[in-house]
Amino acid sequence: MTASPIRFVACPFCGGEDKLRLADNADPSSMTHWVTCDKKGCECDGPWRKSPEAAVEAWNTRTGVRTHG
Ligand SMILES: [Zn+2]
Repeated sequence: MTASPIRFVACPFCGGEDKLRLADNADPSSMTHWVTCDKKGCECDGPWRKSPEAAVEAWNTRTGVRTHG
């Protein structure tokens, strides 16, 4: 079984893909994951979800609203 690489759609704010990464909140009582853009001057966050997979899904299907979802 091979893990498929995570694919992010380009950041809707800066258009970049290379600075996207998964972030998470280490607090075990509210484990939260989201995709964040580290590009200087952008630094937006995607919707917060309970799993990395869901966070990526939420990022990839978002409509460009700069908010925590
Ligand atoms: Zn960006």
